[in-house]
Amino acid sequence: MNTAEKINQLRAELHEHNRRYYIEDAPVISDLVFDQKLAELKALEDANPSLFDGNSPTQRVGGGVTKNFNTLAHEYRMYSLDNSYNRQDLLDWEQRIHKNVGVDALDYTCELKYDGASISLTYENGALVRALTRGDGFQGDEVTQNIKTIKTVPLQISASDVPERFTIRGEIILPLSGFEQMNKQRVAQGEEPYMNPRNTASGSLKLQDSSLVAERPLDCFLYQVVTDRNVFKTQLASLEAAKRWGFYVPSHFTHAANMQEVFAFLDYWEQERSALPYEIDGVVVKVNQLAYQEQLGYTAKSPRWAMAYKFKAEAVETQLEDVVYQVGRTGAITPVAQLKPVLLGGTIVKRASLHNADFIAGLDLHMHDVVSVEKGGEIIPKITSVNHKKRLPNNPPINYISHCPECHTSLVRNPEEAQHYCPNVSGCLPQRVGRVAHYISRKAMDIDGLGAETIQLLIKNNRIESYADLYALTEHDLISLERLAEKSAHNIVQAIAASVTVPFHRVVFALGIRYVGQTVAKKLAQHFGTIDALMKASVAELETVDEIGIRIAQSVVAFFADGVNRMTIEQLRAAGVQLEQAISSQPISDVLADMRFVVSGVFSRYSRDELKATIEQHGGKVSSSISKNTTYLVAGDKMGPAKKIKAEGFGVKIISEIDFDALINA
Ligand code: AMP
Ligand code: ZN
Repeated sequence: MNTAEKINQLRAELHEHNRRYYIEDAPVISDLVFDQKLAELKALEDANPSLFDGNSPTQRVGGGVTKNFNTLAHEYRMYSLDNSYNRQDLLDWEQRIHKNVGVDALDYTCELKYDGASISLTYENGALVRALTRGDGFQGDEVTQNIKTIKTVPLQISASDVPERFTIRGEIILPLSGFEQMNKQRVAQGEEPYMNPRNTASGSLKLQDSSLVAERPLDCFLYQVVTDRNVFKTQLASLEAAKRWGFYVPSHFTHAANMQEVFAFLDYWEQERSALPYEIDGVVVKVNQLAYQEQLGYTAKSPRWAMAYKFKAEAVETQLEDVVYQVGRTGAITPVAQLKPVLLGGTIVKRASLHNADFIAGLDLHMHDVVSVEKGGEIIPKITSVNHKKRLPNNPPINYISHCPECHTSLVRNPEEAQHYCPNVSGCLPQRVGRVAHYISRKAMDIDGLGAETIQLLIKNNRIESYADLYALTEHDLISLERLAEKSAHNIVQAIAASVTVPFHRVVFALGIRYVGQTVAKKLAQHFGTIDALMKASVAELETVDEIGIRIAQSVVAFFADGVNRMTIEQLRAAGVQLEQAISSQPISDVLADMRFVVSGVFSRYSRDELKATIEQHGGKVSSSISKNTTYLVAGDKMGPAKKIKAEGFGVKIISEIDFDALINA
């Protein structure tokens, strides 16, 4: 077998294992063997760039960055759905369609209405070629790169009855467990939790860096095949075919012979929906026979052959027992309502976030009030109103705290922010513990084995002041504090020592500067290159960096203006932590100054990232899309035709990597 055949075989095999794992939930090889095969394929592809394939299983990890998403027209318009809120609405609808098609018996499909972001996928010869968001229904944004990272989206399908070209529609959703996991991480990093899975899913589609999308536990549920030929007779048959082709079609759809059977489906899911691992906001009832669908057609906004039935948001009344205040890593205070336990949507609710002082004031909340609690799009239940009729005369209003519940320092609030803060950065225990916990977290320094409780003990017993002191920690320190086994203590000390090789951009993130998340940290590290340059940067200089506004700039300057933080940095330096970018990004020349490059395709002398880094090392700028300001398009193998047309349209010069080398060696 030659290399090309070997690569093709591995790709086909991995596509199939991917399907078995994610769609069928019935893997036939272990994760380890899967990873080995993937690594083997990756190595072969790296060594043979001319055999690049954008739909290879290796592309699932993402890495491509989209600065501006292209807006493209939908081949078939994506309509909305008409809504109904009660059974009579559905009966009225049935009357209308009976009249319209001239028969008085129709059968239906009932599907769950997944609450996420709509997506339209186009396949040609079995390969995914394009993914568009719904947009305004006429045109959407092209998010193909990001969609490829979602494991339940097949990149290549091989069933024999697949049309040569078709579009399939679905919903990108974030399962509840994944959403909770993401929020846990965000809270641990001192960031506001996301509001609900739906917005988080749709926000994910528009992330510029596809490798960040790859890390999110998104799913893609499909519900409609669209072709220009009549491939199927019924909606049911199309769903079954989509399933067979390897798409993820949740198995809850059903055939209903009449409206009574539709109602039975509604009854069932009205009760059971809270047991689903993802959110739905209703049921979609569709006329099953596609010939009738065609006859019924569309109104200006929606198909006449489908109707969404919306569930009511579940709500109950309960009593507010207390309000407690939590202190986060950055000192942000979050008020939390303690409620008399009550059953809502299948789970017992005891707490609800009250967000901030304004939210409490807006509700006009008093202690012991009877409140209405709702679980709609949000997982975390929400207090939506106060039942004023049930308020007892001596229920005192909630007075927002003025002092930190942990360290009793006077709280502060910036006029343009909703949150109160405890300003006692260096002395407030939860803030100190939170900073160390953030420093060691997986996406920061990735130091395993230290839990929040151990950190708290270490701080309380003065074994460490800040995260920089971790590097002086001995096994003895750990063993004497806790009933830690020698082996675990040894591993922790090893993990701390190993963290000195973590790259600079993750160190910048680990420092725990307010508003500096992973993406911003990367931008800062890339732009400034060393901690010393970053520490010296003024607000104005920081603001020149892509995506960095005044709020982040001021926060960075304030962080480094603090003497304690500067000492911490010196300790990290002494411990050998990476405080500059790996040498490759150091400037070499400025022969490309004032030039803007767009890089596209596959190269043989460089990886795409190397090429971009080389441009920057020589003073050039790299952008992701072609505009009239682009100086050169560096074109490799397999560059898309759209790029070429666009470059020609703007009169941008197209050069090869050989031309490029000549340019920098000039
Ligand atoms: P709406 O946004 O309320 O007009 O509802 C229409 C949207 O519901 C569509 O754009 C889809 O994204 C979404 N949807 C979720 N599940 C389904 C389903 N089973 N069938 C059709 N549309 C669905
Ligand atoms: Zn405090």
